Amino acid sequence: MVNESPTSATVRAMAASIALLPEHVIDQIAAGEVIERPASVLRELIDNALDAEARRIVIDIQGGGVEAIVVLDDGQGMTPEDAKRSILRHATSKIRTLSDLKTLQSRGFRGEALASISAVSRFVLTTRAAHAEIATELSSEGGTLVEPRTAAGQPGTKVEVRDLFFNIPARRKFLKSTPTETAHIHKCLIRAALSRPDVRFELRRDGVRSKLFAATDAMGRVEQVFGESTVKELVAPNEGSVAVRAYLAAPERARSGAGSLHIFVNGRPVIDSALARSVAFAYGSVLPPGKYPLGAVHLNIDPELVDINVHPQKLEVRFSDGREVYETLTRKLATLLGTTPWSRVDAKKPTAWRQKGASSGPSLSDYKPRPSAQDTWATLSILRDATSHLQVHRQHSTFAESKGAFASLRPIAQLQSLFILCEGQSGLYIIDQHAADERVRFSKLRRAFDSRELQIQRLLFPAQVDVGEEALGWLSENAEALSSLGIDATPLSDSELLVRALPAIVANGDPAALTLHALRELQREADRNWSDHVDTALATMACHAALRRGDRISLKECSALLAELDASEAFKEHCPHGRPVVFTISYDELEAKLGR
Ligand code: ADP
Ligand code: MG
Repeated sequence: MVNESPTSATVRAMAASIALLPEHVIDQIAAGEVIERPASVLRELIDNALDAEARRIVIDIQGGGVEAIVVLDDGQGMTPEDAKRSILRHATSKIRTLSDLKTLQSRGFRGEALASISAVSRFVLTTRAAHAEIATELSSEGGTLVEPRTAAGQPGTKVEVRDLFFNIPARRKFLKSTPTETAHIHKCLIRAALSRPDVRFELRRDGVRSKLFAATDAMGRVEQVFGESTVKELVAPNEGSVAVRAYLAAPERARSGAGSLHIFVNGRPVIDSALARSVAFAYGSVLPPGKYPLGAVHLNIDPELVDINVHPQKLEVRFSDGREVYETLTRKLATLLGTTPWSRVDAKKPTAWRQKGASSGPSLSDYKPRPSAQDTWATLSILRDATSHLQVHRQHSTFAESKGAFASLRPIAQLQSLFILCEGQSGLYIIDQHAADERVRFSKLRRAFDSRELQIQRLLFPAQVDVGEEALGWLSENAEALSSLGIDATPLSDSELLVRALPAIVANGDPAALTLHALRELQREADRNWSDHVDTALATMACHAALRRGDRISLKECSALLAELDASEAFKEHCPHGRPVVFTISYDELEAKLGR
C-alpha cells in the first residue's frame, strides 16, 4: 500500500495505514512504561484486536502469560507494509495529529504497544488483511526483526508473545507467581469483556479452555461475568453531561477494595479511585468505609471533556470538571439505588450546624432531596432479591415491608449469645442481635439528629481520650463537629479530649472508642459530602453501643428489639454497615430438607 509519506488528506482517505507520528505529537503523548506484566501485554493486544473491529478474540496463555500469550482475532488484519511498520515505535494508524485525540473512537493512539512488547519478548505477528490472498509473518527476538515472510493464515491477526522479559532479567524477577499473574490476566479479560459484550472472548490456560464469553447484550455479559441475578441494571435518565449506566450488586456482596468494581469511561476500562469512591458513596451508610460494591459502571461523557492522554497504559483519564463528574455519578446512582439515608435531612430546616453558625459546617446544598422510605426499601429489596447466594426465602423481601413484621415473630431462643431464633408464620427467622441492635440505634440516632432532638446523657465518669494532635487541630477548626453529634468533649491537652456526655441512645458504649471512631469518620476523606461523614459517624456510634456477641438477653428483651426494628426506617434488614440482620428458612424448605 502507501509507501510515500502521506499527506493528512490521503491519510484520512486510507485511515487504516500506519505512519510514524511527528516528533511534536510524540512529545505530547504521556510517556512511561507500557508493559509491566503479562496482563499489560494482554490488554494492549485486546485493545488492538478491538480497534481492528474483531468479533471474536481467542487468548491462549501459558505459565500465567509469562511463558506465552497468544491473541488471535478475526479483525481487519494488516497489509505486509503495515505489518512491518506496526512494530516501530510511535507508528500508528489511529491518530495523525493531537487534535485527533479529542474525537478518538479507538482504544490505541500511541503507536507504542507492539514496539514495546516485541522489544522484551520472542514475538511473532501473523496477519492477513481481509482482501489479501495470503498472510504475512513477522518475528522478532528482543526487538531484532527477522525479515517478514508470507505464511498461511486466516484473515485477521495473531500475535504470539513468548518469554516475556527474557532479555531483561531485572524486570523478569519482578513478575509474581503464576497464580498472581493469571489473576491479573483474568481481571484484564473481564474488563475487556464487560466493555464489549458484542464481542466473543475465549481464554485458554495451558491448552484448556478456562473462560468463554459468547457475544451477547450488556445484561447478558454481566450475568456471564458475575453470575445470574447477582447484579441489577440501573440506568440513569439521560440528562446533563454525564450519562450513567450501572450493573451493581447488593451491599452484602461488597468487597474490600475496588477490585471487583469495574468502571468504564466512554467504553474504556479505567482505574480511578475517586470514581470508585463515588460509586461506593451512592450506597450511603450500608457500605462501610473501604468496601466497594461488585459490578460494572459505565459513564458516557462528551469526549471533549475527558483527557485520555494522561497515562502511558491508558488506565487513567482526566476530566475537565472532575468534581462535577464524581458528584453527578454519586447522585445519579444514589437515586437509582434509593439508598440515600443522608438525604433524610429536611432541607428547609436549618441544620444543627447552621443554627450554631459554624462557618466550616455543611452547606444546605449538601443535602439531597429524599426518596420516600418506601421507594428506598423497594429498590433495596429488588437488589436483595437478586442475590440468591444466601438462599433467603423468596417471600422474604415482602416480610419486612408488612406492618409489624418483626413484632409478629415469636422469639424462642438465643443461640451462641449472638443469634435470636424466632418462630414466624412461614418459617424460622434467625436474627443477628448485633446487626439488629445497631440498625435500631442508628435509626434512632439518625432521626434524632435530623430533628435536632438528640438527648444527651452526662457520663458519671468523664472519659479521657487520646485522639492525637492532628485530630485535635482539626477539631479546633471544626468546633461543632462532635457537639452536633451529641458528644460533649473538651480539649484536655495537645492530643487529648475529655468526653463528658454522649447521646443517650449510645451512652452505654465505651465513650473513648466511640468518640475516637466517630471523630475519625468525620475527618475521613475530604471529598465526601458532609452529610455522608455524619452518617458514617452515627453508624460507628451505633455500632459501639449495640449488643455484641456474648451479650445474653432475655426473650422479653428480644421482643422489644423486634418491635424497635419495625419502627426503624428503610434497610430494616441490614445493619448500617450493610450486613444482613435476618436470615430466613421457610418451613417448606425445612420440610424438603428433612425429606417430609
Ligand atoms: P496503537 O494501537 O497505539 O496504534 P500499537 O503498537 O498497538 O499502537 O499498534 C500499531 C498499529 O498496528 C496500530 O495502529 C494498528 O494499525 C496495527 N495493529 C496492531 N494490532 C493489530 C491487529 N490486531 N489488527 C490489525 N491491526 C493491528
Ligand atoms: Mg495498540
